[in-house]
Amino acid sequence: MDSSMYYGNDYKTIPMTSRKRNEGREVTPDVYLYTVQFVNLYMIGDIVSGDFVLVDAGTPNRSEDIIAAVEDRFGKNSRPKAIILTHGHFDHVGSVIELVNHWDVPVYAHELELPYLTGKESYPTGDSTVEGGLIAKMSAAFPVEPINLASHIHSLPADRTVPHLPDFKWIHVPGHTPGQVALFREKDRLLIAADAFVLKNG
Ligand SMILES: [Zn+2]
Repeated sequence: MDSSMYYGNDYKTIPMTSRKRNEGREVTPDVYLYTVQFVNLYMIGDIVSGDFVLVDAGTPNRSEDIIAAVEDRFGKNSRPKAIILTHGHFDHVGSVIELVNHWDVPVYAHELELPYLTGKESYPTGDSTVEGGLIAKMSAAFPVEPINLASHIHSLPADRTVPHLPDFKWIHVPGHTPGQVALFREKDRLLIAADAFVLKNG
């Protein structure tokens, strides 16, 4: 247990769920989408070799569900080579500290997202007046304070490669957060866009 890591003071379990919670499906044979409460995370890697990476870390207090889903897919005591964060919002980093403590693996994010992952900067409070259904209406109550992953968080490589995923490149898609990234694989045009719903060139 590394006590230098901590969540923000507004960290809390979010009492909501969706119909798809704790369900998964293969997007391709090596890309598995798993839904935690109302957000998706991805396990990317070959189930035969057991080498894989976790993309994003779910909502608060869901590490047991995530570890169980990983072990269901890759076998007992399996662990990812790394955790890649698309960005630092609470519903993408919600269980990351428990996962790092359990697996002892490095975490990567875009360098512009690091202030939110090292305890330095809070996100703006959610704008609950925006139309967009229940999640938008609840967003004023969502955690915005930064978590601190201390020495466990690293910048994604500047050459846009993704650690342990040689076929992927990361793409900087700021707007939703300053350092959000999408992950793109050229050979099958697979794009993991996280919360970047609208993409434009430039
Ligand atoms: Zn987000």
